[in-house]
Order: sequence, then structure tokens, then C-alpha cells
Amino acid sequence: MTHGFGPYAEALDQAFRHTGMWLSSFPTRPVLPRSTEREVWSRLGAELPQSSCRAAEVVNHLATAVEPGLAAMGSGRYFGWVMGGILPAAMAADWLVTAWDQNSGSREAAPAMVATENLAAKWLLELLKLPLGSEVGFTTGSTMAHFSCLAAARYKILRAAGWDLDANGLAGGPPVHILVGEERHKTIDVALRYLGLGLPTVVPGDDQGRIRLDALYDALKRCDGPAILCLQAGNVNSGAFDPIADATDMAHECDAWVHVDGAFGLWAAASPKLEHLVNGGDRVDSWATDAHKTLNVPYDCGIAIVTQRGALRQAMGYDPVLNDSGDAPVNPFDTVPEVSRRARGVPVWAALRSLGRWGVRDLVDGLVDNARAIADGIASLEGAEILNEVVYTQVCAAFGDDERTRAVLARLLAEGTICATAVKWRGRQAIRLSVSNWSTDAADVSIALDAMRRATTM
Ligand SMILES: *Cc1c(COP(=O)(O)O)cnc(C)c1O
Repeated sequence: MTHGFGPYAEALDQAFRHTGMWLSSFPTRPVLPRSTEREVWSRLGAELPQSSCRAAEVVNHLATAVEPGLAAMGSGRYFGWVMGGILPAAMAADWLVTAWDQNSGSREAAPAMVATENLAAKWLLELLKLPLGSEVGFTTGSTMAHFSCLAAARYKILRAAGWDLDANGLAGGPPVHILVGEERHKTIDVALRYLGLGLPTVVPGDDQGRIRLDALYDALKRCDGPAILCLQAGNVNSGAFDPIADATDMAHECDAWVHVDGAFGLWAAASPKLEHLVNGGDRVDSWATDAHKTLNVPYDCGIAIVTQRGALRQAMGYDPVLNDSGDAPVNPFDTVPEVSRRARGVPVWAALRSLGRWGVRDLVDGLVDNARAIADGIASLEGAEILNEVVYTQVCAAFGDDERTRAVLARLLAEGTICATAVKWRGRQAIRLSVSNWSTDAADVSIALDAMRRATTM
């Protein structure tokens, strides 16, 4: 098959064969790893080898040593954390990105990759109903998208306050007030720490984890000077969305920058049935989202979106002085933390081309329908309780007291038919299932419910 590929042929043949075995094992394999980290380490060899080894043999050794330690994150029965699978077009496109090996930081070096990523960015803005002139950076994930967006926010609001961050740094400048919801994702705090912005003011949330507007109003009243509000679209436990439109209007009254963590929730905008959840999203200043979750492209791929043109470039640009001119063509390295970088936006183009607008809608609607079916099925089990309003892809279940819930999860994971995650939700132990895989179907849902039933009745 790969004859004529010169020194690559044998290794690629082996990689293709192992890929096929891996993907075709999904229907029957347990989704959790069967080997420990230690065991994989030993099988890989432990000691640095002295001599060389044929590429094909390396691939065989690697695949064989690692395989039993793999989690089937691409399987439709993997409901742990918030993990997307891989669409076939996105996977194949990612292989090509590897083979092409384009250093995709600049259009001068990699015009084809810049064209493809820019088109993916344009399609994303249309699909997610965000202002079409926004700047888009393809990051490694939402954490780095937060970092990039909040760097733009920090730069802009300090500049508006008359402070030149590039020349002076943060020390001695006006204090920046950061407001976050009580149930924000931890990666917001991580990004704030990277940026030296200090501890945020925490605004209480309601029973679904949504930021409370009355409390936000009070907190904003106490801010004098530059401020950034971080909202959330899609709480990792409940799936709930902050009231983005009202919170944004309130924050903008105080000239605060509004950033939204929409790691998996922003994709609601692609569905006419769900877009009300992100109502007002087109008015916020920046968004972070992941393509490696809901869109089901391979790791790693996050997206930073900043609506004010030039802001991302001024904060993240390779050459911020030149970039200050505002409309020089943006290179990828002007929007993200890396200079040399993989063209990780190319699989996004492939995913969008393969699904089209209605395919993305059906993907998101399908995840939510399956989450609701799982929640309904669990609710009918003896002693079970669904702890959240299932408005999106997340389901939190409890089975009586914390001890019993932990025991149910332990039995579920020991069996390994499905993966779910232990979480604390509003002070209670819960089992969380996230439906984020394009391939999860009705059969997977009923297999999951059977596994839950066995775990509760054993
Ligand atoms: C996953 C997630 C993040 C972090 O994204 P990474 O891609 O892991 O960096 C942030 N916020 C929410 C709500 C998430 O689900």
C-alpha cells in the first residue's frame, strides 16, 4: 500500500495496521485502561537503548506496549470528564498535517496552512454566530485560549486606563478587578495566575452554578477602575449557562471586558434549539472554546476568539510595535502563545467541511438528546437521583448518600463497560457523565444504562 514511500513505507504500514486494530476494537473493548502506567513503562523498555532500531519495529513495539494501557476515549461509551472523539475526516486531516510538517506560524512560510486555518476560522464565526470580524487563534486548548483572550483583555483595559503595559509591566499600574462566577472552571484561575492578575472576586452562583445577577450587580458596583468579568457557557458538572446577555450588559455599563469560557458550551450556538443558551454571545469581548471536545477533532485544539480587532495581536503578537498599526495581515503567531506551531486548525476545517452547518447542528442536538435519554434512564433506577437540570451534555447522578454513590461508581468502573467521573456537586458526591462523542448512539445509551443498572443492583 505504501510502496514508493521510501524510508517511510514500512513504518507507516505498521502505523496504519495498528490504527485499524485500535479503531475496530471499540465495539468490544472495555473503555478503561487494563495496564498500569508502571507496566507500560516496563514494556517500553525502561533503559535508554544503545543501538538503533528499524522504524517499523519501533512502531510495532510502541503500539504493542501501549495498547493495553489505553483508554478508549474515542469510543461512544466514554463519558468521563468532557472528552470528544474523532471524526474520520478530522483524523485523516491530522495525519496529513503531520506528513506535511508545515511550521505554521507565518503565512510567508506556510501559506496553504494559513489559508486553511483562516477559512476554518471564518466558518467557525458564522456557525457560532459571533461577529465576523473577530480575531481567531488556534491554541492547544481552552486553557491557552483563556490565557490569550485574557492577555488581550489585560492589555486593552489597562491601555484604556492610560497604562502602557508593554513599557511598564504590571507593577505600579492601576489594579485590575477580576470577577468570576463561583462555579467557574479551574482553568480560568490558571490563566489568571499565568497573567499575574491575582486572586479574583468570586460572585456566588445559583443552584445550577449560574452566576447570580444580583450578586454580580453588587460586585460590579464595588469595582472602580479596569475590570474583567469571566462568564461561563457550559458548567462542567451541570452543563448550565450563565445569563450571558444580562451579565454582559451589566458589565459593559462599567466598561468591564467580558470573557466567556465556552469550552464545550459555545457549540450550543450551532443549534436553533439550543442557541438561546448563549443568547447575547455576540456582544461579549472574548471567547475560549475547544474543538477537541464538542467538534470531535483530535487533541489538541482550542480556539481563542476576540471580537475587538487588533486586541489579540497587540497582546500576543510576535512584534507588538508593528502590530499596533491595527490592520497589518495577522499571522498565526500573532494570535497564540507559540511561534513555531502545528497547523492544528486544519482538522477543524476538515470537521466543518465534512459535517457542514446542519451536520454540526445535528451533532450538538444528538449529544444533548443522548444526555437526556441517559438522565431519564438513570432516574428510573432504584434509589437514583439526577442532580442537575439536563439542559446540555452533562448529567450528574447520585445514588442515595455519598458512600453508596461512590460504591456504585467503583462497581461501574471496575466493570469498565463505560467511563464516568466522580465529582462533587453542590456539596454532594455525584457520578458525572458527559456526552461529547459524535459516535455515541442509541445502542451505546442502552449499554450505558444496563451498566448503570448492574452497578446499582450488584
Ligand atoms: C475542558 C474545559 C476547560 C479547559 O480546556 P482545555 O482544552 O483542557 O485546556 C475549560 N473550561 C471548561 C468549561 C472545560 O470543560
